[in-house]
Amino acid sequence: MNRAQSEALFAEALKFIPGGVNSPVRAFRAVGGHPFFVNRAARAHIWDVDGNEYVDYVGTWGPAILGHAHPKIIAAVKAAADHGTSFGIPNPFEVTMAKLICALVPSVEKVRMCNSGTEACMSAIRLARGFTKRDKIVKFDGCYHGHADSLLVKAGSGALTFGNPDSAGVPADFARHTLVVPFNDPDALRSVFAANAGQIAGVIIEPVPGNAGLYLPRPGFLEFMRKITQANGALLIFDEVMTGFRLAAGGAQERFGIRPDLTCFGKIIGGGLPVGAFGGRADIMDYLAPVGPVYQAGTLSGNPLALAAGLAALEELRSGEAYRKLEGLGAALEAGLVDAAKSAGVPVQFNRCGSMFCGYFTAGPVHNLADAMQSDRERFKRYFHGMLDASVYLAPSQFEAGFISTAHTATDIAKTLSVAAKVLKTL
Ligand SMILES: *Cc1c(COP(=O)(O)O)cnc(C)c1O
Repeated sequence: MNRAQSEALFAEALKFIPGGVNSPVRAFRAVGGHPFFVNRAARAHIWDVDGNEYVDYVGTWGPAILGHAHPKIIAAVKAAADHGTSFGIPNPFEVTMAKLICALVPSVEKVRMCNSGTEACMSAIRLARGFTKRDKIVKFDGCYHGHADSLLVKAGSGALTFGNPDSAGVPADFARHTLVVPFNDPDALRSVFAANAGQIAGVIIEPVPGNAGLYLPRPGFLEFMRKITQANGALLIFDEVMTGFRLAAGGAQERFGIRPDLTCFGKIIGGGLPVGAFGGRADIMDYLAPVGPVYQAGTLSGNPLALAAGLAALEELRSGEAYRKLEGLGAALEAGLVDAAKSAGVPVQFNRCGSMFCGYFTAGPVHNLADAMQSDRERFKRYFHGMLDASVYLAPSQFEAGFISTAHTATDIAKTLSVAAKVLKTL
């Protein structure tokens, strides 16, 4: 496959952009080689600058649940742009969006818009701390909540030890307020609450973690978390930046029947434009400025273009028809890939929740980060490049979820399966 123009652009990008990219995973470091540059996308397909076409399972990392360049989203953005790109004073879209989110997600009684998932999680944590007047937060090993300082922490040597900064530049003094426990481990959670009684402001969790590949909560785990947070006066924060409006119109919380205190959103609610939001119980949300003491703001928050795009996407999704279609496509992909791996004799653990999936190259089940780390990443690299060279684009890392959109067709799935059957035999 000829990618000469992508190679030339990447060489130029390296001179002016750190690593040539504006978000690290795009650099293909985990799989080797160089990224390709895209200048067009439609439905479930993307085209690189050399004119190569790919079936896309990245979906701009989650937002493109309706496929790329959905006509209703494009029309909404164009219409909004004709009236101006930003006002810096309330606009009607903000009221429509807030009402719609509150209607679709019953645990959300009030909501504040911001500009990214990172901002949503960072602000929800600040709000939880301000509301409870406590400093410590609990997060889970392998869960990603954006790149704010106190959330860039993963497990140190044990669940009860203070976290170590995951990134240079995060002061250890910040990181020590973040306690990290393994996912799907109620005992670890029990111990962390016992060891930090009266000090934990909240627990933040991806209810279905999709940033270390994909694994699901064991039955009862989310229910247990709801109970233990309540019993300890800590807030339960669901980070649904990825799962919100993807696993159901009401997100993972609808699917699993849990009512968190606060929820973070992003990705899908921007329809492909930069957006984030966080919301929850009204008594907590009213701790935010200008009514409450917790400061949070944004020049472009509630941006009319982003909200027009997001509203068009949510309106399209709310019927519920989309989720039935996504489940059907997901099930077909899963069945086919599991079969293909079996006939190729390659051990693959295929995890899926609706339209999110991950095939780990390991024989054992994957319920947390430690399990995920057992996968054969060299094998994944060969698989990734084999698929890419046959025009199927998967996320360039073993530790990312794949996404199906309503624009994927039976033909796309069939093509993916026939390519995978061939590539798996070469591994
Ligand atoms: C993508 C993501 C974020 C960060 O959102 P950005 O818009 O990239 O800042 C936070 N949490 C989860 C679960 C995500 O998937």
